[in-house]
Amino acid sequence: MSAGWITVAGLGPGDAGLVTPEVTQTLAQATDIVGYTPYVERVPARPGLTLHPSGNRVEPERALAALEIAAGGGRVVIVSSGDPGVFAMAAALFEVIEAHPRFLALDIRILPGITAMLAAAARAGAPLGHDFCAINLSDNLKPFTLVEQRLRHAARGDFAMAFYNPRSASRPHQFARVLEILREECEPSREMVFARAVSTPEERLTLTTLAEAHDEMADMRTVVIVGNAATRRVGRWLYTPRKAGAE
Ligand code: SAH
Repeated sequence: MSAGWITVAGLGPGDAGLVTPEVTQTLAQATDIVGYTPYVERVPARPGLTLHPSGNRVEPERALAALEIAAGGGRVVIVSSGDPGVFAMAAALFEVIEAHPRFLALDIRILPGITAMLAAAARAGAPLGHDFCAINLSDNLKPFTLVEQRLRHAARGDFAMAFYNPRSASRPHQFARVLEILREECEPSREMVFARAVSTPEERLTLTTLAEAHDEMADMRTVVIVGNAATRRVGRWLYTPRKAGAE
């Protein structure tokens, strides 16, 4: 195989200052950028660089196309927002490689990025300062009953939680159901953060409680954080103490 390579890189939550130097250097060496159109648009055009934007929900086709370009000698970067390993393209790439093991001969690298929940948590203070979990609320690749089950277990385990893909036009009612389950499992004063478009000009951060939260506070550009039972306010900040349980 020729000198092609394939990298999956995280572009961070939006701001150029949150792209790692490693990712910037790799983009500068690429011949081809592959990814969901809004993410590809974040890569500056330059001579010698071919952009391959595509729609969402075509991850396997996109990964296969990228692997073929690399196998032909291209230096390919598949771009994801945030971190490529968090509900994004890195796992999709390995699914395709598992089905086509000949691609294992390629030079493959995954470059981390700042994921939405960490950028959002930093804006609010430190709501993920103790044990936490991340749940993708989309039922695109799993049944919603599994979302409900994991949510309930996480609440009973007193994990703080971050929700990705909380609400979309195609499934507007499920986030209301998520709030209903949380209300069954947690006290009304439980702290929550709705962080929309973090680190972009449209950023909006809303600190609220489970009692006050309503489903229209979330959309597909929002990451939602739910504190654990000890998460509290200090001044305008929200944080979760590092200690939990009995002394
Ligand atoms: N790989 C990405 C997540 C992709 S799933 C990452 O690590 O961040 C897409 C979801 O991520 C969105 O529905 C939203 O919940 C969240 N998200 C991505 N960018 C965001 C941002 N700038 N602000 C708030 N949430 C964001």
